[in-house]
Amino acid sequence: MNFHVLTLFPDMIETGIKTSITGRAIENGLISLNTVNIRDFSEDKHKRVDDYPYGGGAGMVIQAEPVYKAYGYLVNHIKLSKNGDTFKKPRVIYVTPQGRIFNQGMAQELSLEEDLIFLCGHYEGIDERVLEMIVTDNISIGDYILTGGELPAMVMIDAIARLIPGVLNNEDSSEFESFKDNLLEYPQYTRPEVFMGRKVPEVLLSGHHARIEAYRRMESVKRTYERRPDLLENANLSEEEREYLTRLIFQKNYDVYS
Ligand code: SAM
Repeated sequence: MNFHVLTLFPDMIETGIKTSITGRAIENGLISLNTVNIRDFSEDKHKRVDDYPYGGGAGMVIQAEPVYKAYGYLVNHIKLSKNGDTFKKPRVIYVTPQGRIFNQGMAQELSLEEDLIFLCGHYEGIDERVLEMIVTDNISIGDYILTGGELPAMVMIDAIARLIPGVLNNEDSSEFESFKDNLLEYPQYTRPEVFMGRKVPEVLLSGHHARIEAYRRMESVKRTYERRPDLLENANLSEEEREYLTRLIFQKNYDVYS
């Protein structure tokens, strides 16, 4: 998977993504990172890329032209790198608070792409005309406003990269994690067995894999009910798990009214 980022702050992206697990994945050739500085495509002698918004209002807006040129350069670069293999125009994700909110399902879907282009805004955003011309997906990381798109792009790249086979080794495995099956992950414990009087649940020390799995599944159902009940609507639960959930709901209602 090749990640390409159109940004005014390539160093920020390079430093973040070339660290730790994603950095190791780049070194091992499992993913690649290519940043393009939008400022390099400015025709202005001071390399300015922003201007005042038409109609007035606070802040500055990134101009269409340098973004369009940076995009054209990047697409050409991707095309050339295919060495004659079939070329499909990559999806262009504009990271914006006005997009669909990113989630694990979207990360899963995007991890199947060969190339992805992220476009990072700054200031008040980017001239709408170039967005209409090149963007295929508008994606947000949450209902709050950041100063720029670099952190959201890094969040998405990280979440997508770790789903690519080989990026996580066994120690950082994503075998069962929160949001799989629309459940949160069960609680985790490591050594020592007793910490300040608190014991690790007995079943986890039993070595009985089936019992451990059943226990963890029920803990997942319980945790999801307590912390993110909205997820349970689409969770795929067994008959036994549904009964357990009904008991949890009954118990909560009983506690409220008693
Ligand atoms: N004026 C814009 C608005 O109200 O929609 C916000 C601009 S924001 C200050 C600057 C840039 O940061 C945006 O163009 C976008 O790329 C990025 N950004 C800010 N918050 C974000 C979020 N929650 N998710 C994704 N990108 C975000």
